Amino acid sequence: MKPLAIFGGTFDPIHIGHLSVAWEAAELLDAEVRLMPASVPPHRSPPTASAEQRVGMLRAALCGQSRLTLDTRELNRHGPSYTIDTLYEFRRELGDRPLVLLLGADAFAGLRSWHRWRDLFDVTHIGMINRPGVDACMPVELERTVAPRRTEDLNVIRGQPAGRVIELMVTPLEVSATRIRELLAEGRDPRYLLPAGLFDDPALLAPYRGALMH
Ligand code: ATP
Repeated sequence: MKPLAIFGGTFDPIHIGHLSVAWEAAELLDAEVRLMPASVPPHRSPPTASAEQRVGMLRAALCGQSRLTLDTRELNRHGPSYTIDTLYEFRRELGDRPLVLLLGADAFAGLRSWHRWRDLFDVTHIGMINRPGVDACMPVELERTVAPRRTEDLNVIRGQPAGRVIELMVTPLEVSATRIRELLAEGRDPRYLLPAGLFDDPALLAPYRGALMH
């Protein structure tokens, strides 16, 4: 069965790093990938752009293709959105269909700070995406938990609903939203680090222009 893959993040703003790795992950897994913006990220300072503004940018970025789609369910919830709760919701909807949570290497390395992180493996696989330029040192306890779950075989992912970890080797792109926010706040124009659709409407990038940096 074709897996459903979930790629969560703040997307403040969505950039070509997100899009390219999500696209390549979709190809490698032969999956539909849903980009899922977080409302109140439990471990982060608040985003510069509002939820509505981030959704506007995502819509503009995803226009014209159907492999990467948008899922705004976490924005419709009140209070902090824990990934584990969302994934249980997906699991109820999907039956036995494989579910893959896509995480950049930096996000994966920080997994132990997530609410009920060990329970994630009951409901989802994890697809770890390589990411250059970030300090993604794997804590020993995490590596120990994950080691027996690792597989390099995509058929294993397709053949069971949850429980395994696979490394997805995608084209490395050293792009981050932090850097893009800095450039925009300085009045620079990082045109080719962002999807073209974000320049069609000047209102989309307005929250970052001249903004105080987070
Ligand atoms: P910020 O700089 O604000 O922390 P970010 O660029 O890391 O933002 P997020 O929205 O926080 O973007 O990331 C969402 C997910 O995308 C995370 O799993 C992150 O690891 C992954 N990700 C972001 N940029 C890249 C990239 N260039 N390569 C691989 N994974 C990435």
